[in-house]
Amino acid sequence: MLDIEDLHVEIGEKEVLHDINLRIGDGETHVLMGPNGSGKSTLLMTLMGFSNYIVTEGRIRFKGEDITHLPIHARAQIGMGMMFQRPPTISGLKLGKLLAATYGDQPDRIREMARKLNMDHFLERDINKGFSGGEIKRSEVLQLTAQSPEFVMLDEPESGVDLENISLIGHAIGMLLEKDVHIVNRKKSGLVITHTGYILDYLDADKGHVMCDGEIKCHGNPREILKEVKARGYRECLECRQTA
Ligand code: ADP
Ligand code: MG
Repeated sequence: MLDIEDLHVEIGEKEVLHDINLRIGDGETHVLMGPNGSGKSTLLMTLMGFSNYIVTEGRIRFKGEDITHLPIHARAQIGMGMMFQRPPTISGLKLGKLLAATYGDQPDRIREMARKLNMDHFLERDINKGFSGGEIKRSEVLQLTAQSPEFVMLDEPESGVDLENISLIGHAIGMLLEKDVHIVNRKKSGLVITHTGYILDYLDADKGHVMCDGEIKCHGNPREILKEVKARGYRECLECRQTA
């Protein structure tokens, strides 16, 4: 579904990503880990097409099509969607209105969708205005559920979410990624950034990658990587270059 080749990305004339190579197959979910400032969010923002992330070398293909220079809305139309680490507040736009514009004007279905994320009391509120950290994350997952993208990008979906709501978010993300469908028939794929690994309990991720200093240094089983990182920290990732 997604094929990234030799990707180099600059922000404000500084090269942040160097030589990224990554392939994500149909129905697969990959997890991206790495220390703060290593370039994880930059990769997602670049994949979605934000214009201040400049691709200086390499290319991105989605479902076989070269999308390296497509604008954001065109990427959304062909099935890419993302949940932001820090989304903006949008004063004057009610969450319910945005969901209706995305999903279609079906108030009962939208309310039901919102209820599953404990967000049914937020439909009349401006997007993210005064929302707590965890409420923002639930709102983001709700917006993605309405969009139902084929390729789902999640930037730290569980950060700031209390334990009770992690299970709601986890189940909603599991549904977004069609984890209830056998991989042979599954149409959705995803790339998920996580620090804590809590979300792994709901994702059944296929592969993990560690990014350090703007490069992907290591691939492997996501749970094993997490265990290693918890035991020894990311420092060893800078020294060790193993691929699996
Ligand atoms: P992560 O998500 O892994 O914590 P980011 O992708 O957000 O890391 O950031 C990677 C690096 O790029 C950091 O050093 C960050 O300060 C830098 N960076 C991000 N956005 C900008 C920007 N708009 N201008 C300059 N530097 C940026
Ligand atoms: Mg980030």
